[in-house]
Amino acid sequence: MAYHWSIHQLTEYLVAVSSPAEPDGAVQVALERALEALEAELGAVVVAGRVIGHAGFGSMDIPAAFVVPGDDDSIEVPGVGETHLTVGRLDTPDGRTGTADAVLVVGRAEEPYSAEERQMLQGMALVLGLRLHSLARLAGERQRHRLVENLLQIQRGISARRPLDEVLDAVTSGASALLGGGPVALLLTEPVSRDELLKVSHETLPETDPVLLEVARRVLVEGEGGIESPSAPGGTVLVERVVVAGETVGCLAARAPQTSNPGHDPGELLTAFAQQVNLALTDARMLDAVREAHRDPITALPNRALFLQYLDTERDAAIASGDPLTVLFIDLDRFKAVNDTLGHRAGDHLLAEVAHRILHCTSDWDLAARLGGDEFAVMLRGGDQQVGRVVAERIITSLTRTFTIEGRDVLIGASVGVASLTDAAQSGATLLSDADVAMYCAKRSGRGQWVAFEPRMHEDVANQLGLRTDLRTAVDAGQLWLAYQPLVSLATGAVEGVEALLRWNHPVRGAVPPDEFIPLAEESDTIDSLGRFVVEQGLPMLGRWRQELPGLHLALNITGRQVMDPKLPEVLGEELRRLGLPGDAVTLEITESVLMHDPELARQRLGCLKELGIRLAIDDFGTGYSSLSYLRQFPVDQVKIDRSFIRGLRPGAVEEVALVRSIVELCRTLRLQTVAEGIEEREQLDVLTELGCDLGQGYLFSRPVTAEQDPHRAGLDVVQGSVA
Ligand code: C2E
Ligand code: MG
Ligand code: MG
Repeated sequence: MAYHWSIHQLTEYLVAVSSPAEPDGAVQVALERALEALEAELGAVVVAGRVIGHAGFGSMDIPAAFVVPGDDDSIEVPGVGETHLTVGRLDTPDGRTGTADAVLVVGRAEEPYSAEERQMLQGMALVLGLRLHSLARLAGERQRHRLVENLLQIQRGISARRPLDEVLDAVTSGASALLGGGPVALLLTEPVSRDELLKVSHETLPETDPVLLEVARRVLVEGEGGIESPSAPGGTVLVERVVVAGETVGCLAARAPQTSNPGHDPGELLTAFAQQVNLALTDARMLDAVREAHRDPITALPNRALFLQYLDTERDAAIASGDPLTVLFIDLDRFKAVNDTLGHRAGDHLLAEVAHRILHCTSDWDLAARLGGDEFAVMLRGGDQQVGRVVAERIITSLTRTFTIEGRDVLIGASVGVASLTDAAQSGATLLSDADVAMYCAKRSGRGQWVAFEPRMHEDVANQLGLRTDLRTAVDAGQLWLAYQPLVSLATGAVEGVEALLRWNHPVRGAVPPDEFIPLAEESDTIDSLGRFVVEQGLPMLGRWRQELPGLHLALNITGRQVMDPKLPEVLGEELRRLGLPGDAVTLEITESVLMHDPELARQRLGCLKELGIRLAIDDFGTGYSSLSYLRQFPVDQVKIDRSFIRGLRPGAVEEVALVRSIVELCRTLRLQTVAEGIEEREQLDVLTELGCDLGQGYLFSRPVTAEQDPHRAGLDVVQGSVA
């Protein structure tokens, strides 16, 4: 009999049960000792119907009488036979050990337990109960300690003015660590569209837990409940609002840990962390900073980074649900010209206005963003290719309407690429880049259009890039040549000048138009060698023609980069000297935007050219929004009225005629020579002659021709015909 339990044995038991630092260890020790002391073969410790430790059962199922002990003293255990039981409760009836609803049960086959033995087990159970309780308290202490440590670290980060994202990351990672390592997300609502959530920091990718994000969204956006959603799929979701200056600005959302933490309420824990966020954000400027990092300040639209974030989330949802998803890539036409001529402030106004119109063309479901520069994007949630086309068309129409910026009418336009999600391998980023490629093709096939993405387009764009490479060797390979087009005096019909127009015969693609390759050259220093080529080819030709027509001048086109190139006056001056030609035999044609881009530098450079006696013309006048009086500050001699103003000229076209008349008359007052570009019809010529325009250029007189076709002799008969 084993009821002679000495004080010594009891002390030893107490020491043994107290030594393991973890509850499992204490339970195991208690069981071993109890079996030994009570000569039992079977034993279990059960808390709230859950076995937390057992001994002697091997692979055997633990009989119900152990798990939910009743009043029976003996039961039948399969494979063992009749077994006598005794049960010890881990808590006193008044709950002094704090380990409620827990029992230590042992059983033996030999004989029923005596009253002393039962009492002994009860004593052992109470000791275990006390130990488990103090271990739980300790664990709670430790957890609290970690929490305090974590919070202090965040505090230190805030007061040391660490970057905000670093502080916020410390919040989410700290909360996650204390909540069993599950996902934690910090979300901010957006001031612009409050139902969009900004994911500013997260731990263990909450993207993989859409339920978490959805519950957070419902709490924040729909003002639903909060704090704890036990019925969420996949386990309890905790959401704690982040309040700054009385306004809910976001929330901290987390999964509650699977196993409950002793002595700690996960809800309270999350509250503590949310307060840290609150502290970090209380400085309203900081809040703005976080939001701004994801927002374009000019248009208040999401920026590229945020757009891609949403796009990825939406892509995952679309793949999962099978719903369509379409992205539009929008690039403004002629924005650069406006920005250059009207200034950056006007450019910013225009961008804000564009954003406004784009939002007007889209629904609440869609998401518009400014990607940078003059590029915008729209994500059409649930929209297929057809929807994409309709919205693209709507946007183009809307952006083609006149804008009024700082009291001026401004016309731009837009090119749009449309790309839809077609296969699961596409990421958000590749979808956007497909739309970008389609936009690029839209731009090239003429502005103001939309184009839907097709896989072969990647090849086209690669070709374009190839063209840029090919252009580098085009001069040396002898693929370039000059065409010449006469400028004819409208009064006499005499050819007064010839414009040199560059041509490229690509060995594979044939003739590539200058509007296509000049911009490519302008992107690199290839333009310098093209410029030299034009000077070295054109000036000797002029020298030859001047033997027949001594007053003939040559017009050369130069780009912004060429104007700024300090070598240009050198090259030109040398060639003029070599050929014995006067400086005023050459006219350089520049567009308004070139002058507006950096007026001070342009004035300086043009001054150098003027010293050589060279004449300057404003090419394509009227497309750049600058006034003639403004242009007067540059040493300009001639104005070439853009083809678009000439196109509609007819004797009865009152407005068109009035517009050109005002330009011609103003130029006369300012002593600037006028040239009408793109004269194709007899009627246009008649009107221009009557308005007193000085020179004309266009297919009516001659298309650009080769030097051998004698452009300096063209046109005379045409004008004489009209005079007659
Ligand atoms: P631009 O200087 O305004 O040249 C006039 C353009 O109008 C030429 O196109 C010419 O062929 C076209 N044109 C002339 N008359 C008519 C007409 O009656 N009707 C129509 N529809 N078009 C007419 P091209 O040769 O394709 O040149 C396009 C642009 O490329 C030029 O515009 C100029 O900006 C640029 N470019 C051409 N050659 C050079 C060059 O050597 N250097 C630089 N930097 N740019 C050049
Ligand atoms: Mg020109
Ligand atoms: Mg022109």
